[in-house]
Amino acid sequence: MSECEGLTALVTGGASGIGRATAELLARRGARVAVLDLDPSTVGEPLTAHRADVTDDASVRAAVAAALGELGGLDILVNNAGIGARGTVESNSDAEWHHVFDVNVLGMVRTARACLPALRASAHAAVVNTCSVAATAGLPQRALYSATKGAVHALTLAMAADHVHEGIRVNCVNPGTVDTPWIGRLLDAADDPAAERAALEARQPTGRLVTAAEVAAAIAYLAGPLSGATTGTALAVDGGMQGLRPRTG
Ligand code: NAD
Repeated sequence: MSECEGLTALVTGGASGIGRATAELLARRGARVAVLDLDPSTVGEPLTAHRADVTDDASVRAAVAAALGELGGLDILVNNAGIGARGTVESNSDAEWHHVFDVNVLGMVRTARACLPALRASAHAAVVNTCSVAATAGLPQRALYSATKGAVHALTLAMAADHVHEGIRVNCVNPGTVDTPWIGRLLDAADDPAAERAALEARQPTGRLVTAAEVAAAIAYLAGPLSGATTGTALAVDGGMQGLRPRTG
């Protein structure tokens, strides 16, 4: 399929998991794709890779400038870099709150700010933010993470409103629990990884984890020309987690 032929894309957090699957899918659909990541060492052709820390504005601006120089412009920004956090309002420190907001929310703001001039010059401009079902679901032990994703959801709507008249569409995807290296690390750290995995699977009515490829397909749809009338929306890719009751037996 080549529905992204002639388009250019930048994917943050594109070295792993959802971002990697998205970058590779957009490339297979014909886009020229650059990845921005804290550790892009595993990224190879046809993708190009740029090291940047989304908590560092100068590093983001330098990486975006280098990527756009190579790509010759920008049509698609996938704002995906993010980190997890476990805990309640009592267990997470102020420093943890500042850091996770810095990565998950301000990271998207910095990257969008650096990319907007190029997106304005595109005849097909789309931003897709990786949000989460945690933005709206009320998950236990995820106060900090959920608050950052609630902010990403609100940011998506506000950006969509601010830039619709410039021809820039802004949407987000809300994944459930996705089988990525992130979840692998979470399971490795659990006392009983098999029981933890079973609990994560049972939380989703489909009874299984979402795949990175399924989230990538949703992001590619929102980034591509087939969703040209869609802006300011959140597309759930969550195994029914938001809308349905989990299996009870
Ligand atoms: P992952 O850990 O596999 O990949 C995240 C990538 O982001 C890594 O390559 C990492 O190096 C990069 N990154 C992290 N901090 C960075 C920083 N400061 N600057 C630049 N790059 C940085 O994780 P994933 O599961 O693919 O998650 C990607 C996105 O999906 C995140 O925004 C996450 O919140 C969201 N998400 C994940 C799940 C899930 O269950 N895996 C569910 C809902 C939403």
